[in-house]
Amino acid sequence: MLATFIKYASIDSQSDDETPWPCTAGQLEMAQAIAADVKQAIDKSCVREASVEVSADGYVYVRIPSNIKSECPSLGISCHLDVTPEAKGGNIKPIVDLLNGHTVVRTDGSTLLGADDKCGVTIAVELIRTVLLTPTIKHGNLFFVFCPNEDVGRAADKIDATAFCPDILFDLDGEEFGVITKSNFTARRFDVKFIGHDAHPGDAKAQKYGDAIAAAAAYVSYFPVECRPENSEGKQGYIHPWNFAKEGVDVTVNSRVRYFDKSEGELFDRMLAGAIADVGRKFPNVKIEVVADELQYENVAYTLHPQAQLLVENAASKVGMDIKFADERGGTTSAMMAARGLKGGMCVFAGMHNVHSTREYADIHEMEEAYSLMLEVIKEIPILK
Ligand SMILES: [Zn+2]
Repeated sequence: MLATFIKYASIDSQSDDETPWPCTAGQLEMAQAIAADVKQAIDKSCVREASVEVSADGYVYVRIPSNIKSECPSLGISCHLDVTPEAKGGNIKPIVDLLNGHTVVRTDGSTLLGADDKCGVTIAVELIRTVLLTPTIKHGNLFFVFCPNEDVGRAADKIDATAFCPDILFDLDGEEFGVITKSNFTARRFDVKFIGHDAHPGDAKAQKYGDAIAAAAAYVSYFPVECRPENSEGKQGYIHPWNFAKEGVDVTVNSRVRYFDKSEGELFDRMLAGAIADVGRKFPNVKIEVVADELQYENVAYTLHPQAQLLVENAASKVGMDIKFADERGGTTSAMMAARGLKGGMCVFAGMHNVHSTREYADIHEMEEAYSLMLEVIKEIPILK
């Protein structure tokens, strides 16, 4: 586990916010390194039908066919091979250290480590090796995907849903030890443009002055303060107008819409439509256009396999691990995939800490725990009742 992690962490696979596609050369190098390790394991094994493929966009797809006669749900494991552009990357030199009796890997603090998500990648590759090289492990159809551009929110943009189509999905990309995310926000981007009409204020009425700034301000203040992010917690959602972009006499208001429950989402839809209609009545000389209404990620809970939670609970009790299920007030890779119509998956802790910073580190013990849990999940599926 340690050697594999250090090898992957040393590859500079930062994603790029400005030009996500084609993905960066570092991500392609990382994809090739993963594929080479998987290919070596396939060649060593007697599983001739197993396959590994790197797509032109930098995704790595691995498929290991079932080795049992009976039918059972297929399992997919995802992770991401890029690291965030939010902290300094480049020449990453992993340093092995000891922290509270655990082997940890960090850097000297001048760059990030990329534990997010080289931890998930390492665990997934070790699972592939173990399954391929241990014929006594009985399992159903297994799919793995290593995605590029996750940290710039685009992991699902070019995913091939025919190469990765599991019934039950887990994403190895969580931070807090023992925590498994079973639901998350549905996230929408909602941008409204207020198109103004300039005129001299002294003659504004006759010249049909359309004040886009006033209209945009009325739109923002239409939403009750109870719906704002600072008043939202737990599984409550929010509407967050977060930016005014002025261009000439026009103003665009960018908003984030977040919710767990579909009924709250419908309430927010009515509010947004109500705000536009109300402002339109009050400012008839301002033209209002919805310029973006985009689903960015979806609550995985809507499409989770009904037995996914039981499966993890059974696996955790077999390996003697305490786990905690959580609701994430944010998104995950699975949530991006769910927004593209794939099934939702839980996000599993992977041993990373202080992510997106130069203080980032990986805890090898926690990675081994996540590995044991997922290996048990693989073994549990064929006996799932
Ligand atoms: Zn991540």
